[in-house]
Amino acid sequence: MIPYGRQSISEEDIQAVEAVLRSDFLTTGPAVERFEQAVAAYCGAKYAVAVNSATSALHIACLAAGLTKGHSLWTSPNTFVASANCGLYCGASVDFVDIDHDTYNMGEVLLKEKLARAKQQGTLPTVVVPVHFSGQSCRMEAIYDLAQKYGFHVIEDASHAIGGSYKGHKVGSCTYSDMTVFSFHPVKIITAGEGGMVLTNSADLYEKLILYRSHGITRNKRLMLQESPGGWYYGQLDLGFNYRMTDIQAALGYSQLQRIDEFVQKRHKLARRYDEALKDLPVILPAQDRDQYSSYHLYVIQLKLDQISLTRKEAYDQLQAAGIGVNVHYIPVHTQPYYQKLGFKQGDFSVAEAYYEQALTLPLYESLSYSEQDQVIETLRSIISQ
Ligand SMILES: *Cc1c(COP(=O)(O)O)cnc(C)c1O
Repeated sequence: MIPYGRQSISEEDIQAVEAVLRSDFLTTGPAVERFEQAVAAYCGAKYAVAVNSATSALHIACLAAGLTKGHSLWTSPNTFVASANCGLYCGASVDFVDIDHDTYNMGEVLLKEKLARAKQQGTLPTVVVPVHFSGQSCRMEAIYDLAQKYGFHVIEDASHAIGGSYKGHKVGSCTYSDMTVFSFHPVKIITAGEGGMVLTNSADLYEKLILYRSHGITRNKRLMLQESPGGWYYGQLDLGFNYRMTDIQAALGYSQLQRIDEFVQKRHKLARRYDEALKDLPVILPAQDRDQYSSYHLYVIQLKLDQISLTRKEAYDQLQAAGIGVNVHYIPVHTQPYYQKLGFKQGDFSVAEAYYEQALTLPLYESLSYSEQDQVIETLRSIISQ
């Protein structure tokens, strides 16, 4: 089976993890700090806070932004459920902004229109979470301009997009946002087994993120409300969680980071090969904005269902049966049963729904060989040319 995504683990990665197992620290220690500093330096951000998943990273980013009951968070319907759930974790309500036809990212024009309506109705969001779908950055300059105008926080869900850039800035630099979140799940660009990170340029947000990551407790005398009674003392200043990353994970993440540009370059080569090989088929290829450099987490095509004799389900099933692990990204979040219970309906975000009906994710990962990719291409060609 050729999966849609998988990790690339080197001998150096294995040695890096082994070295931690032989050291004094297993959980959050020097390897976490080194990984944080390396990712912050790579992205050009001041601060980074490593946690045990991007889901946790989104949660503490929302808390640091002050999101709470009575507030709302807006995101894209074309994302993994975690981008929206983080708002609900904070007791806020969640709403969506439909996607752009070409990039499948949250449409910045639709966002602008929705904000203008929300202002009149007094329902402006506290947090907006643009998701860099497939590794292609959203049009952040426009989104950030709107944030200035309407006064909301921007948290980039860059789970797909580490290694990419936008207008000459690395994704994660937070040039056009308050915070950026990465995922180190094994199918993403680099992995820590599980893991996530929040980047920011704000010292104030950084301090809050550190607190929320670990129970809301601190040993920092400067933050204490009263004088410390002794060296053993820690003060709980807020309600936080145990979202810590282990040194075992961080060592793997750090080792992977050394090869990130190589990983992304290989993904680009594979994407160019797909572009070339599929251009005469009845499919829509992924469009790319010129002022960004995608990390190509996903390569998604849309089947032109009116020009082929199969349904998307039949194409998916036949590819799976032929050993090609295609996938579908994403089931629009507002159509999930849980979100339907919250009041969302089929038809609410029709562009994302129509896109979903014909979307198919082809295998793409660093260690995918050209001959495996040719097998994907030939199988797809024969199936949709029936
Ligand atoms: C993978 C992913 C997440 C969640 O990442 P975890 O590290 O598994 O918690 C969140 N948002 C998006 C867009 C993702 O793809």
